[in-house]
Amino acid sequence: MVNGGRLSEPDLTDRVQVEALFEEKRPDYVFLVAGRSGGIGANQKFPVDLMLDNLLIECEVMRSAHRFGTRKLMYFASSCSYPRACPQPMRIESLMCGPLEPTNEAYATAKIAGIKLCQAYRRQYGTDMISVIPANTYAPGDNFSIEDSHVIAGLMTKMHRAKLSGADSVEVWGSGLPRREFVFADDVADAAILLMREYSSETPINIGNGSDVSIREIAETIQQIVGYQGGLKFNASLPDGMPMKMLDSTALMNMGWQPKFSLRAGLEVTYRWYIDAEGACDS
Ligand code: GDP
Repeated sequence: MVNGGRLSEPDLTDRVQVEALFEEKRPDYVFLVAGRSGGIGANQKFPVDLMLDNLLIECEVMRSAHRFGTRKLMYFASSCSYPRACPQPMRIESLMCGPLEPTNEAYATAKIAGIKLCQAYRRQYGTDMISVIPANTYAPGDNFSIEDSHVIAGLMTKMHRAKLSGADSVEVWGSGLPRREFVFADDVADAAILLMREYSSETPINIGNGSDVSIREIAETIQQIVGYQGGLKFNASLPDGMPMKMLDSTALMNMGWQPKFSLRAGLEVTYRWYIDAEGACDS
């Protein structure tokens, strides 16, 4: 959603509303996390929405941040910004060195434009704008729909429902072979605060925890946490997306940052939240 789905919040694609927000709040520090995103399914169905909303939001928010005297802005790009065939782990030097993954090309192009706009503001006006590139982020409060979510939320929903209905199997998209680095949102937030305090450069910086898993492994781990006894059916006719996405987060680690959540701990917190939210919806 462009404003987190909360009606009382401004539509950040709209210049008038963004200017009114900045005029009223005059924020010194801006974490530009807002934007429309989605999993591989949403990227294929809604490339225009994903590209347009992200382009508009980054243009309007950066423009107003500059105009209303924000001291520092942190723009959240995406690991999709790296080329499909990027050497792993992915280093900043590889940005724009090869074709993007076709399933998320529109979204990734908008995210690259955001990185470039930060750099342009630094060069033309000396405004302190930095870009961070988080790994695949998951957490409570994510979009848990089946069609448009990212893999963790999507598989949790499918397996939870299959457990309740006693379904024999759950479909896992693709071959199960792609590898992803998953980082818990609280860890990303923690790193972002450190970087807001201590990092200032036109070079973007990766936020990852340094470990990756295959989609098969993440599906099996979610299966254990949910307690789903049925089978997993990998549907190789559905797209895998990028074969591998693992960030080189050496620069962040060298600043003394360490993640606090193991994958299992983050998944357990997320699943507990999901059950509570699902219960609230059912009642
Ligand atoms: P990506 O990292 O941009 O590709 O985003 P996703 O989180 O949507 O997908 C990651 C990987 O998980 C891809 O290889 C998907 O094909 C695979 N996957 C398996 N099952 C699912 C599912 O139920 N939902 C989603 N979104 N991805 C799935």
